Amino acid sequence: MDLDMKDVVALCKRRGFIFPASDIYGGINGFWDYGPLGVELKNNLRDLWWKAMVVTPPIGPDGTPVQIVGLDSSIIQNPKAWVASGHVGGFSDPMVDCRETKKRYRADHLMILKSEGDKWPSFHEESEDEEIEKRLKKLNLDTNVSNYERVNLTDLDASFYEKIIAPDTKVAGTLTEPKEFNLMFESHAGPIQSDENKVYLRPETAQGIFLNFKNVLDSSRVRMPFGIAQIGKAFRNEVNPRNFIFRSREFEQMEMEWFCHPDEVEKWRDFWFEERTKFWRAVGLASDNLQIRKHGDDELSHYAKEGLGTSDIEYKFPFTAPDFGELEGIAHRCDFDLTAHQEHSGQKLEYMDPVTQDKYMPHVIEPAAGLTRGALALICEAYTVDESRPSGVYLNFHPALAPKKAAILPLSAKEEHVGPATKLYLALREEFAVDLDIKQNIGKRYARQDEIGTPYCFTIDNDTLEDGTVTVRDRNTMAQERISMDKVADYLREKMKPVSAMKVAA
Ligand code: ATP
Repeated sequence: MDLDMKDVVALCKRRGFIFPASDIYGGINGFWDYGPLGVELKNNLRDLWWKAMVVTPPIGPDGTPVQIVGLDSSIIQNPKAWVASGHVGGFSDPMVDCRETKKRYRADHLMILKSEGDKWPSFHEESEDEEIEKRLKKLNLDTNVSNYERVNLTDLDASFYEKIIAPDTKVAGTLTEPKEFNLMFESHAGPIQSDENKVYLRPETAQGIFLNFKNVLDSSRVRMPFGIAQIGKAFRNEVNPRNFIFRSREFEQMEMEWFCHPDEVEKWRDFWFEERTKFWRAVGLASDNLQIRKHGDDELSHYAKEGLGTSDIEYKFPFTAPDFGELEGIAHRCDFDLTAHQEHSGQKLEYMDPVTQDKYMPHVIEPAAGLTRGALALICEAYTVDESRPSGVYLNFHPALAPKKAAILPLSAKEEHVGPATKLYLALREEFAVDLDIKQNIGKRYARQDEIGTPYCFTIDNDTLEDGTVTVRDRNTMAQERISMDKVADYLREKMKPVSAMKVAA
């Protein structure tokens, strides 16, 4: 069954996963807040990534354990860093403005319906046929979509612009020609708002890693090849933030820069590709919903003009289906960044092999994933409609990702049930995120746990008092079994094991 994003967004708000930022003021486009359960889910994904990359990184393709160290660099850096990295000059999208409505659109996201006539309505690329037909009717144009040719604005000569009706107007000819628009948020460091004090909020976490390449090399025992990993906020003044948290203006990234000898890039690119795909499967994304896509030559980033280019791990989000949307990019950044920083800073950043005395500029393979986008993929994957249960829906999170690992439910509010339930709860909460839920009938309590994706409910009833067992209810199957109360922690521990989970799913 097709998932409606409206339902997903509504559940996220209702149950405290994700709220619009500044909700009481009507929100702010492109910004989101993570509620009590959302922050847990996001942190669980973050921690699993950190564990897979930094704490217990894999064994490399030739049997040697890989070395990766962590970093937490500042969001604001010397603005010269962004000139060197190419973000001040090149980190931009082609934009067109509508002179009438003052709205701004990404030129490469505008689709034009071309016809014989002199009025060519334009739409956002992802507009549904239904929407298009409605608007054609309003504009008194032929509503038969098949009578038009669909073209992208960037493929049209500017002399045709006067025929185009911008997406939010009724008259033709209001669009300007495309111009570049920089996606970096600007601010000023210090009290004076002058150009000299201009700073940028980082649009990617990667540059903080390149800026610290020499510091890390000089201060730790890592030797080539090795990685530096970082998780943190990134900011992009996206022209058209959309699809819930998929494209927002403030988001989180999980990036690792893998530094290696230029002759070895292919081997490492393939290795990291496989590892990263394994990771997304292990955290619960179904193989059918994942795909790998190599970038076309026309979409190479400013750093990837040569070399192996970028391949993406993509997920079939409900709003992209049957197509896929980027979850993680795995790029060969060549030696672009280190060379640029060496030139601009005047500091030597080459690597000298201590054994061979060979001096070279390392090449970089970069697995760059979205943490917040990853959390969205987990939510979409987990969202399971089931009319047969009272909640009508449950979130099928992998136990290692679920915000709450278990709920302890005394069958009644009587002390004989609540007493042992509280005891079990107090023991479990030393190790796991668990809920003790006493109020309401048991069906309602199960429904709530289903909706927030709690994998197990332990119920304390009269039998508990006799034989010391509890009922375990499995969220997905709703099957129940009895286990001894003193085995509950072991039971959960076994289900939580993230590393073994990663192996099972891989
Ligand atoms: P896109 O083509 O979607 O704009 P990108 O190729 O520019 O993304 P990268 O610079 O490779 O993205 O960033 C790495 C990851 O960061 C992406 O795979 C994505 O998961 C995440 N990301 C990038 N932009 C955003 C955004 N505006 N909102 C949320 N996540 C983002």
